[in-house]
Amino acid sequence: MNNAERKAHLIGSGIANLAAAAYLIKDGGFSGANITIYEEENLPGGALDAAGDSEKGYFMRGERMFEANYVCMYDLLSFIPSLDDSTKSVKQDTLEFTSAYTWNNKARLVANGQILNFRSYGFDAKDVSELLALTSKPERASNDKRISEVFSEHFFTTNFWHMWKTIFAFEPWHSAIEFRRYLLRFMHLFPDMATQSLLHHTRYNQYDAMVRPIIKWLTDRGVQYVGNTRVTDIDLGNDTYGEITARGISIAQDGEQKKVEVSPEDLVIATLGSMVANVTFGTNDAPPKLITSPAHEGKWALWETLARKRKDIFRDPAVFTSNISESQFVTYTVTQRDRRFFDLMEQLSEQEVGRNGMTSLPESSWSLSFILSHQPYYQSQPEGIYVWYGIALYPDKMGDYVRKPMNQCSGREVLEELTRHLGFGADVERILDSSTLVVNMMPFGISQFMKRKVSDRPDVVPEGSTNLALTGQFVEVPDDCVFTMEYSVRSAQMAVFKLLNLDKEPTPFPRVSNDLHVVWNAFKTLTQGG
Ligand SMILES: Cc1cc2nc3c(=O)[nH]c(=O)nc-3n(C[C@H](O)[C@H](O)[C@H](O)COP(=O)(O)OP(=O)(O)OC[C@H]3O[C@@H](n4cnc5c(N)ncnc54)[C@H](O)[C@@H]3O)c2cc1C
Repeated sequence: MNNAERKAHLIGSGIANLAAAAYLIKDGGFSGANITIYEEENLPGGALDAAGDSEKGYFMRGERMFEANYVCMYDLLSFIPSLDDSTKSVKQDTLEFTSAYTWNNKARLVANGQILNFRSYGFDAKDVSELLALTSKPERASNDKRISEVFSEHFFTTNFWHMWKTIFAFEPWHSAIEFRRYLLRFMHLFPDMATQSLLHHTRYNQYDAMVRPIIKWLTDRGVQYVGNTRVTDIDLGNDTYGEITARGISIAQDGEQKKVEVSPEDLVIATLGSMVANVTFGTNDAPPKLITSPAHEGKWALWETLARKRKDIFRDPAVFTSNISESQFVTYTVTQRDRRFFDLMEQLSEQEVGRNGMTSLPESSWSLSFILSHQPYYQSQPEGIYVWYGIALYPDKMGDYVRKPMNQCSGREVLEELTRHLGFGADVERILDSSTLVVNMMPFGISQFMKRKVSDRPDVVPEGSTNLALTGQFVEVPDDCVFTMEYSVRSAQMAVFKLLNLDKEPTPFPRVSNDLHVVWNAFKTLTQGG
């Protein structure tokens, strides 16, 4: 059958499956009208969301930083026109914006209103030798190991670790396999960890800058988006062991359970699991609902159902979902009607807003960090409104000024804690009275970093599959790093190119750790500072 006549059923509308739909059309010759994307949420984009308004406050799950070697993501964005100027691709717009507003962080670490000396990474000889030991051994040597099992305590007190954990959200209890992959993939960034000048960023939040243009490109080509629809099962038929062919999908829609037939020539591409399952948002006056034992919604339940049928293929989602205290992640979005906070940060950092990158507060018990992005941060944001975003790594701990755990705090209390850590106490009432802070609690926010074995994730195209592929953060993409958009887009390229037997490989990324120049610079930085 001609590919233009085949159908594709895509489960999940995060960047992984938006990319899969785009590659099915661009490289696979599919007709957009034959592609349907099912999504249990109202809007597409998955983790790349952005909502709210200037009155009630804007809110979103997160902001993304990336870099030049996000080659798959940039490949995708190279054929998607920007919404502001359709003569430019989103890639071109993003590169131009990054170059016009290159970060040059002068206030990476701040304590009590003082900028700390963050150029020294604080390593001793043992830290360096442990790093070398981890990276020089094969991945399987770190099977089921935590980072804390391959480094001594001193490593976790270094400036390097503090900068690392706040940029990438790693914790000592996370997977040594994942940490090793990051060290190797992003080694060229080591000398730049303090200034962050090699990091790229989009003109607006990623929903406005990436998801909306991709959705327009897809819907212009007829792709069907079916929101508020949860896929509960994939019928794998009664094929003989060794061959897998999806024959149908079960969906829950408008309170009803329905079945969609899938013919063997058609494709099913499913994103398994999600870091944004069971997310709750707080308000300026109230904390988010704390969920300690979340019900597994469609985002995880489909994977669990499939794993019950064929564990040999789908492996075990419980590796990533069974310990919320180790997988939770908290972020917050701040909307301000007064520029005072921006003015104070510009004075402190001696940098115009939009150029400083991430500031972290190493003495904050909650481990607060934040980024003041170039404004407007939402495409529709009115003049005189300022929106920024931050993270916290230890929401269970007692605050240093507001004597409560962060996860019991209102938005106003969180902003007070942050403002006082920065030494802006004299302006605290003015700042709080003109701001709205919304906390976002993600029980599975960093579940992709949970300690695991090499074999714990399913393959993108399982062995024997004739028409089923799996995408996203929880499938195995050799050598690449989870908790990145790049990983999801790479999984989409792998899924489409392999399922369709195209003579095309996923965009290769530079193996920077094989480049002696990069290795030498990284070593020099670690031993002498950035
Ligand atoms: C706070 C935060 C900060 C981040 N920072 C960065 C960063 O700096 N740089 C970077 O590169 N990346 C970053 N990331 C990671 C990046 O955003 C994600 O890796 C990426 O967006 C994941 O996309 P995805 O499509 O794989 O999955 P998701 O975005 O999770 O999308 C999956 C979608 O599938 C839907 N779905 C799943 N199962 C079903 C089902 N059975 N039925 C219907 N729908 C279903 C879900 O509802 C969801 O919408 C960050 C993420 C977060 C949360």
